[in-house]
Amino acid sequence: MTSILFVEDEAPIRDMVRFALSRAGMEMLDAADTLQAESLLRARRPDLILLDWMLPEESGIELLRRLRSDSERRDTPVIMLTAMAGEEQKVQGLEVGADDYITKPFSPPELIARIKAVLRRATGSDEAGLLHLGELVLDPAAHQVRWRDRPVALGPTEYRLLRFLLSHPGRVYSRGQLLDYAWPPHEAREERTVDVSIRRLRKALAPFGLDRHIDTVRGTGYRLDPGGGSRA
Ligand code: CA
Repeated sequence: MTSILFVEDEAPIRDMVRFALSRAGMEMLDAADTLQAESLLRARRPDLILLDWMLPEESGIELLRRLRSDSERRDTPVIMLTAMAGEEQKVQGLEVGADDYITKPFSPPELIARIKAVLRRATGSDEAGLLHLGELVLDPAAHQVRWRDRPVALGPTEYRLLRFLLSHPGRVYSRGQLLDYAWPPHEAREERTVDVSIRRLRKALAPFGLDRHIDTVRGTGYRLDPGGGSRA
């Protein structure tokens, strides 16, 4: 279940958001200030943080700044909430690394839509946990890849590689990182095997015109570019 940490000092707003999230099938963890949020984050790893700007003691932006400078927690998407609609604050929030920005008052449907959009962007997956690339669908739960409901045959390494790349769209990974993240730990770690698997993966995707989404980034590594074709 998708879990959202909501850091907000006003209880009625927390209750409203908790209700909206539970109707959308999401779990809400909550904290009334940044200190509580930090202690919760030591035990849990929410899928997204909804962070109020104006909090007692310390502002949400300070917590955001710490999250973004922490290698463990840097990738957690954050949506800032604020009562201040000023452009200056907005720019500051985005500069510190907020993924999106919502101005109070907001409607629950708007909030849910923005959360889903940020999660899709961050993880590449939809609400059902499926990963998409054009008309190709990877279902991690079923361990299946389909294109227009036709099964696509992939070797285990190519499957893991595709799953990893689809989960991190638009980011560049070195061969070493791909070996770290997408290969089983006991396998021989040769960077050349990454090139071989990328070649196999492209070949498997070519009949669907999707091989062009796997970019070679010269001198660095590889990236899945979801926009590198018609519609992705
Ligand atoms: Ca507040």
